[in-house]
Amino acid sequence: MGVRRAAVERVEPAPEKAEEVGAGKEGREPACPWCGSPEAEKVSDYGPHLMVCQYICRGCNSPFEVIKR
Ligand SMILES: [Zn+2]
Repeated sequence: MGVRRAAVERVEPAPEKAEEVGAGKEGREPACPWCGSPEAEKVSDYGPHLMVCQYICRGCNSPFEVIKR
């Protein structure tokens, strides 16, 4: 007599829904990586790289790039 395992337990990974809050909202300025100021102005939609936006900080006037997602 043996124990028959008829069913194999299957653990399905729950798909994580990454719902973006406020998706589609234009002009979401990121914070400056240098001084942390949220006042950043977009200077270019396309930087030297395709997926990069160029910003300039109004606080310290330092340019920085933000990778688009
Ligand atoms: Zn800054």
